[in-house]
Amino acid sequence: MTTEHFTLHDVVAGVWAAEADLGGASVGNATIIDAGGKTIIVDTFMTEVAARELRRVSEELTGNQVYLAINSHWHADHTNGNQVFADVPIVSTRETMERIIEEMTPKGLAAWQAEIERSIASLQDSADAGEKAAKQLDQLRHFKNSADIFELTLPDLLIDGRLVVEGERRVEIETRGKGHTISDTVVWLPEERLVVTGDLCWNGIHPRMHDGFPGAWAEYVEAILAMEPLHVIPGHGRPSDIGALSDLPEYFRTVEILIDEVRAGADPTKIPAPGASVNWKGLGRLHDGLKVLADR
Ligand SMILES: [Zn+2]
Repeated sequence: MTTEHFTLHDVVAGVWAAEADLGGASVGNATIIDAGGKTIIVDTFMTEVAARELRRVSEELTGNQVYLAINSHWHADHTNGNQVFADVPIVSTRETMERIIEEMTPKGLAAWQAEIERSIASLQDSADAGEKAAKQLDQLRHFKNSADIFELTLPDLLIDGRLVVEGERRVEIETRGKGHTISDTVVWLPEERLVVTGDLCWNGIHPRMHDGFPGAWAEYVEAILAMEPLHVIPGHGRPSDIGALSDLPEYFRTVEILIDEVRAGADPTKIPAPGASVNWKGLGRLHDGLKVLADR
């Protein structure tokens, strides 16, 4: 099956990871679960156009209408596509719902639109007309279209702990509170030992930490590791196995130490990638995160 905005991975029978194409309209990953006559979507992408494709593909793959959507956390690249799923229940925690409301006020939306306009203008003005600039412009136009037709669509089935979908395939939706954000939710398929982590896991990529809590994040990942998953669908990067998670607790514990070093005067941009993260992509995200967290 060809898709324009993401790459589909067959993770186990009836479960597909929709991996966001780099620099495209999706930005974060989504997951499609065929729970035997019930199609469940985890996360809804950054834009309406990508979410619409996600819905079309999921209904083609499973032969069923979407039954339920889930927001793993409040970030726009996991929730902006919610309007495509306005006719089905959307599950999240109350904190996640509240943060979406705070971000996507008319004022917040206008600020986002202004930022997109500025970025488009500066790209068009720049002498750089290469392939990279063209791709960036393409992505920004998708963002602009999405912002122009944005309809705030909030989660309306709130969990505080765990929600279980029973049927041919058991699907457990559960939260342990904060980690990557003030409130993160994971989806666990006990039979298949498959976990959808949202942005608690970035596979082989330095995670965005601006809204995170490194200590709690390490503990959250440890709790997921203790479930001994065989399959891991991360919020960013390719689906994998437990190896995508195993280095994360030490990474976030090191981040806690590095934050103290930055507070004591260390230059965050000079800090090398800690331990096993030397081969990860996006070191700049670590540096930005350290700066933001040290100032918080
Ligand atoms: Zn996120």
